[in-house]
Amino acid sequence: MADERFTKPKSIGNKFLNIKCKDCGNEQVTYTKISSTVVCNICGATLARPTGGTFELAAEIMGDKQ
Ligand SMILES: [Zn+2]
Repeated sequence: MADERFTKPKSIGNKFLNIKCKDCGNEQVTYTKISSTVVCNICGATLARPTGGTFELAAEIMGDKQ
């Protein structure tokens, strides 16, 4: 099931990131290594999904968590 929304960030390492939902603009924090799907807290869109190691992302990366 190919989903063009998802991209795999390159050499991002293991850290917490602020990401922004492309659907509603909500910002929330996720870790780069996840074991289950991350959904938007506001609209429920899928923001990230696990791929064995680093996640694939369907949201905008806003930067490292402060
Ligand atoms: Zn959203």
